[in-house]
Amino acid sequence: MNDQHTSAIEPNTLLITGASRGIGAATALAAARQGRDIVLNYVRDEPAVRAVAQSVQALGRQTTIIQADIGEEADIRRMFDEIETRIGPLLGLINNAGITGPIGPFVNTTHATLEHVFRINVLGAMQCAREALANFKRHETKGVIVNVSSSAARLGSANEFVHYAASKAAIETFTIGLAKEVAAEGIRVCGLAPGSTLTDIHAMAGEPGRPARVAPLIPMKRLAEPAEIAEAIVWLASPAASYVTGTTLLCAGGL
Ligand code: NAP
Repeated sequence: MNDQHTSAIEPNTLLITGASRGIGAATALAAARQGRDIVLNYVRDEPAVRAVAQSVQALGRQTTIIQADIGEEADIRRMFDEIETRIGPLLGLINNAGITGPIGPFVNTTHATLEHVFRINVLGAMQCAREALANFKRHETKGVIVNVSSSAARLGSANEFVHYAASKAAIETFTIGLAKEVAAEGIRVCGLAPGSTLTDIHAMAGEPGRPARVAPLIPMKRLAEPAEIAEAIVWLASPAASYVTGTTLLCAGGL
């Protein structure tokens, strides 16, 4: 499926996974304002991703929409094959797609939840990073990967989703190791750990009222807007962060 993408001459295209809503959608808009063209990945919500694409296009940037389940290796390979055919070199990857699974104490967490969360948040993100790296190496570009973690990786998320926190901790360690592996090639790998942010993720976890419950626990006494997280992500992906790699920036209102 696509809109108006043709082949790019210079790498100026960012792939954002999970770009139909929330932090991913806000990141698409923030990156478009920086002059980037965007590949918007989504899994289910086609009308939502089309609306994001229209907003990006209204900023004068090109968009390509690719449906792919980040929990499925075959989908990831198909997505990167399509990118190779239609775009060629990528400037970077924003590894944003992620889920929490149901909120609650760990004793109630099923094998199916563990597997689903780790398939998307860990295996999916790592495989997207591998395919992005292959793209950078094939085209001899100095690309950038930003892995979206969570403040949960440091806090542990007791009684809410410790499995999710553990998945994000895995991604933070992956960020450190991969960054060291590719630093000499001029490729950067960074992480951005948002605190609680006003998106659909809380309702999808089964507690739509979670933002109001957790706001008093945050030093700033409020959740982040997706646009505030997006600004930090696009900074990490930009040349302004040229000496930043192998680290995860916490953007969590003082947590
Ligand atoms: P969200 O509002 O629930 O949006 C999730 C996005 O990911 C949607 O675009 C969704 O696509 C996509 N997605 C979900 N499963 C996918 C899959 N299997 N394959 C491809 N795309 C998939 O989430 P968010 O709050 O923006 O979260 C974005 C990232 O920030 C996640 O990694 C999350 O863990 C992290 N984070 C969020 C918070 C927070 O409080 N919101 C805090 C810390 C970290 P569809 O629309 O097509 O379903």
